[in-house]
Amino acid sequence: VEFLRALPKAELHAHLNGCIPVPTLRKLAAEHSDAASLPENVHAGIDQLQKGVVLEEIHDFFGLFPAIYALTSNPEALAEAARAVLALFLESDPEAPNGQSQAAYLELRTTPRESAHMTRRRYLETVLDEVERYPGERAALIVSLDRRMDAKVAEEVVDVAVALRNEGRRVVGVDLCGDPLAGDMKEFEGHFSKAKQAGLGVTLHIAETTENTHEDTLRLLSFKPDRLGHATFLDVDARDVVFSNKACVEICLSSNLLCKTVSSLDEHHLKHYLECNHPVAICTDDTLPFRNSLVGEYALLLAQKPLGLGLSEQEVVRVAGMSMTSRFALPTAQ
Ligand code: 5GP
Repeated sequence: VEFLRALPKAELHAHLNGCIPVPTLRKLAAEHSDAASLPENVHAGIDQLQKGVVLEEIHDFFGLFPAIYALTSNPEALAEAARAVLALFLESDPEAPNGQSQAAYLELRTTPRESAHMTRRRYLETVLDEVERYPGERAALIVSLDRRMDAKVAEEVVDVAVALRNEGRRVVGVDLCGDPLAGDMKEFEGHFSKAKQAGLGVTLHIAETTENTHEDTLRLLSFKPDRLGHATFLDVDARDVVFSNKACVEICLSSNLLCKTVSSLDEHHLKHYLECNHPVAICTDDTLPFRNSLVGEYALLLAQKPLGLGLSEQEVVRVAGMSMTSRFALPTAQ
């Protein structure tokens, strides 16, 4: 564990609202200005998250977010949540004797939501204010587009991301996330090319379920993403494109096992990428429902089979190095 803690590694795939620590959620629920407006199930939802959720399939997972969103819908609460998530990854881990943090570098991602209390731009500025408390070599922001967004909202989100980047704020990329089967991806192509032209990195959740079609996957690959989230069910054609583009694959082992998109570590697609020397980044995805940590994800690489993948320390050093080299570029001023 000492070896894993000391290893310089980048967390490149962590969703803000999926990584809020339970004590922070409880505090936000207790402080909520209008308890009557909280959905009835919020407290039960937090209890459940603390005990550990059992997900029968990946779609159950998306049902967890409305309760969390009820608690992060004003700038003060959102700032507190962002601070807690940044600290989780970047401040010294209380369990680490030498005070190391989980990650040397964090690209935190989040989907800007409009509410009665803030615009989408204010949402992003609020999170950026927290991200930028850390130096550029430690933290940056990825702006997520949800597949369920209508075309106008998606356009607004990309325009705000680009504007903030041009103002020198630390936005480094855009992401596509949300229900893997929602939305018409034809409509999203222009948004991602606009982001690329502005110098932002592009990462796309892709081929997460067996129900994602060949057309959906190839369409997303035609956007020329720099990185891919999960990429669990790539067929041969898609894999050829990924190998020739060298797009880094963000691998979330516990997330895949708990959402039951991969049945065992032995069958995980990570093995294939490692054999082919393809760039990967080991990530946590959502530490709140999955109750995982970045060090824990790396421990799965090192642990002997069948508990882990049985990689050598040397191989794990190489994997961690790939996460550091797959970071998106910071704005030039930083
Ligand atoms: P947020 O963007 O609100 O900070 O983080 C939560 C959101 O991230 C969820 O509503 C969901 O859209 C997205 N998300 C979190 N984990 C996953 C995942 O494993 N797959 C996909 N497709 N989306 C995810």
